[in-house]
Order: sequence, then C-alpha cells, then structure tokens
Amino acid sequence: MLKIVKDNVKSLRNKSIPVNMPLSDKDRKTLLEMIDYLVNSQDEEYCQKHGIRGGVGLAAPQIGVNKRMFAIYYPKDEKTIVKYGLVNPKIIQNSLRKVAIQSGEGCLSVDEDKKGYVYRYHKIVMKAFDVVTNKDITITATGYDAIVLQHEYDHLDGILYYDRIDKNDPFKILDNSYLI
Ligand SMILES: [Zn+2]
Repeated sequence: MLKIVKDNVKSLRNKSIPVNMPLSDKDRKTLLEMIDYLVNSQDEEYCQKHGIRGGVGLAAPQIGVNKRMFAIYYPKDEKTIVKYGLVNPKIIQNSLRKVAIQSGEGCLSVDEDKKGYVYRYHKIVMKAFDVVTNKDITITATGYDAIVLQHEYDHLDGILYYDRIDKNDPFKILDNSYLI
C-alpha cells in the first residue's frame, strides 16, 4: 500500500518537476495506484482495517514522488463520479470570485485539522493529460470541484492548505466570495 508523506517531511514542501511525456508506464502505474488508494480510502471498513483516512485527492509528492501529477476520486452525486489522474496540470483561467468550505479543508498529509477559511478561485479552467481517459483534457470546475483541483495543484508547488488561512483572522469574510 502507498505510504503517505506527512507535513513534517521536507520533500512535501518542494516544487515538483514536470512529468516527461509521453507518459512512461511507471508514471502511469503510479497515478493509477494513487486513484486506487482514494477509491479504497472511501470504504470505511477498509480504512479501519488498514488504519488509513478517507481522501478525495492525492498528489504525487504526498507519496514521495516529486512529479507534477495528482489523482482525484469522489462521488459528486448519485449519478456522477469525479475521477481524474492528471499529469502536468495547468490552470489557464480563473474567476475573481472566491469560495471556501465553511468547515475548512482536510489533507491526508495533515493529521491535525487546521481551522479557518481557505479561499480559492470559485471557477477555474484546467488543462492536463488524464490517465483515466488517456487524453489531453480541459476541465471547467466550480465550487467544491474547483477547490479540490486547486488543493491538489498546490501540493505540486509545495503549498499546504493551512498556508492559505489568514493567521490573524482565520474566519475572515472576503469581498466577492462565498462559503459552501
Ligand atoms: Zn492535501
């Protein structure tokens, strides 16, 4: 099973390097394993048995691979599952409006939840190569979906969610923003 790098490890703070394209079998396998990890982590029994936590996103630096790729997996509603294995993602557009999760964010690398609003762009357009569909894709995401993408993207630059919480005023209400 993949071992999660925690936030006391320096490599989590490094900027990750671009992945060589075309994608090697090794990198593809790593990314598919990361998706599997997330799928398993959403099974409560599996988590208890293996002593892991549930997650919706996992970036390569979190498993000790400092390359620009990350996995996302979660059910959006009864009919839709959000599932990506993204390589060399780029945010090519963002809204001015921001959004934050009222109850705060969490991270598989951060064992103690840090309280406060993590403001992120309400809407982004991201381009990447995706191992799930095996194509270059363009994702337009808003609200929670946009937050998850930006949280994982930050890991590629060594940024953790609590870096974005205002230390003097963690529950500050920003102009042109909303909470979900
Ligand atoms: Zn994280």
